[in-house]
Amino acid sequence: MKIVRFRYEDRDRIGALEGDRITELDGPLDALKPAAGARPIALSAVRLLAPATPGKIVAVGVNYRDHAKEMGRELPAEPMLFIKPSTAVIGPQDGIVYPPQTRRLDYEGELAIVIARTAKNVEEKDARRYVLGYTCMNDVTARDLQRLDVQFTRAKGFDTFAPLGPVIETDLDPSDLQIETRLNGETRQKSRTSNLIFGCDYLVSFISRIMTLLAGDVISTGTPSGVGPMQVGDTVEVEIEKIGCLRNTVVPPR
Ligand code: MG
Repeated sequence: MKIVRFRYEDRDRIGALEGDRITELDGPLDALKPAAGARPIALSAVRLLAPATPGKIVAVGVNYRDHAKEMGRELPAEPMLFIKPSTAVIGPQDGIVYPPQTRRLDYEGELAIVIARTAKNVEEKDARRYVLGYTCMNDVTARDLQRLDVQFTRAKGFDTFAPLGPVIETDLDPSDLQIETRLNGETRQKSRTSNLIFGCDYLVSFISRIMTLLAGDVISTGTPSGVGPMQVGDTVEVEIEKIGCLRNTVVPPR
């Protein structure tokens, strides 16, 4: 199932996308069911929102060997984690704002895990029971500020720095999917999730032993090599096999 969140008739809703039709869903994330009296809604009649509303985004740094090399970093012995604030989330039809404080705004195409239910001290073999599905994320980064700071909070935390979407695919084995990032239609990143140093199930388990993961929380699994800058007016696309294409445009500060 492809889960979307959308605005229709002035209300934010969750639904299942099939072709160009959405069926509204109801209930908690781990027990979604068709809403009472739901009629199919045309995709063209709605505004798509980020498919998850995470309380926190736990992101993983240097989780592809080739990206570690391009950043001049050693391969990590354990996942290197940081948090992006919930206020950074935007949907597939929103603009990435180029902040005035940076001169180097980078895209990072990533596979993101969406949590379905409270997860604490989860075994790796049980991890998928706690996962709703997978979506595309752009871990937008002010690279110059990341290099200036010890912590990543400023460089990764601006409003609009976490585009998510367009859908959460629930029926998916995430272990070997093609991931590609395009800037104005040109391929800049291309890899497979089989190149992740720490895979999805391992990350759910590892993180759940540190902090409780709640329904809707997002884990962004890291980016392959090929990160690079965006300018105002650029369109950036993160496409993952069997999920879809997350497309956003870079806009000037408001
Ligand atoms: Mg990243």
